[in-house]
Amino acid sequence: MERQERILIIDDSPVQAERLKSILQDDYAITLANTAEMGLKYAREGDFDLVLLDVVMPEMDGFVLLKKLQEEIITQHTPVILITSLNDVENEEKGLTLGAVDYIIKPYHAAIVKARVNTHIKLCRYRQQLEQKAMIDPMTGVSNRRGYDTCCFKKWQEAVRLKTPISLCMMDIDKFKVYNDTFGHPAGDKVIRAVAGVATDYLRRSTDFFARYGGEEFVAIIQGNDAQTAFAQLTRLRKAVESLHIAHNPEVSPWVTISIGGVTVLPKLGDSYDTYLKIADTMLYDAKRFGRNQVVWSNERMEQLREQ
Ligand code: GH3
Ligand code: MG
Ligand code: MG
Repeated sequence: MERQERILIIDDSPVQAERLKSILQDDYAITLANTAEMGLKYAREGDFDLVLLDVVMPEMDGFVLLKKLQEEIITQHTPVILITSLNDVENEEKGLTLGAVDYIIKPYHAAIVKARVNTHIKLCRYRQQLEQKAMIDPMTGVSNRRGYDTCCFKKWQEAVRLKTPISLCMMDIDKFKVYNDTFGHPAGDKVIRAVAGVATDYLRRSTDFFARYGGEEFVAIIQGNDAQTAFAQLTRLRKAVESLHIAHNPEVSPWVTISIGGVTVLPKLGDSYDTYLKIADTMLYDAKRFGRNQVVWSNERMEQLREQ
């Protein structure tokens, strides 16, 4: 079932807020906030699809709040409709210039409010779908680099906040240039899809993340596991790719294989994500150097784990 769209109504007047709620509650999940502060707090936490914002409120008015919502990464993509009795042109212009998607003037007709809200919800849903699509690699169906870029710092910050270990992992298909030269580019594409498929099977937890980093390289982020567990998990993945028994150029290797480098860290505030990604990349480089088709890992004490 599709998730019901969520609307946040911010209005200091309970009567006005209830009226809006009664107009929209049949179609949407409604949350009410009676102050701008509360509205801002809810907007940050609530994952709303639309905000209906009263302009005239004590302490912080709607314009100030709108500006704050536009500045914050979490809320800046949530469309805001201003609702007010200020029926002069200047205020309407100010609201729209500040980034409100629409402006509804009191007194309003219920049907008009409904229609406008429906339109903006539809646009929002459409934009979200496009954003989702833009983060998928069409060839493999897994996340692409953009999806990875959007996700990686969130995962990192979450690990810092929850004080849980996080593993960053790079993988790369071995001698893939030779594969392409031997079997052709379309056959190479098939291999990339097959590797992505196996990786997806072996990174099934909702907290696992996997993406095509570019070309024949992939990146994975695993939350919660210690180094030994993550290393074992990726070793199983590596073996599963080998077990596909996709014939390689026999001068290079009997089967298509991958090399994997990773690092597990319990990140602290101030640690840099990029530093650890570089370590994962160094481990991958070592895996190649040590003969390919293997996993090389760096644990929490920067000791190297290797396959026997
Ligand atoms: P190594 O074991 O050191 O990784 O050797 P390699 O040949 O895999 O490494 P290199 O980086 O030299 O070559 C990567 C090759 O991957 C070159 C490029 O033609 C191929 N490649 C990159 N993206 C794609 C793609 O989308 N499809 C196909 N078929 N090949 C690709
Ligand atoms: Mg490569
Ligand atoms: Mg390669």
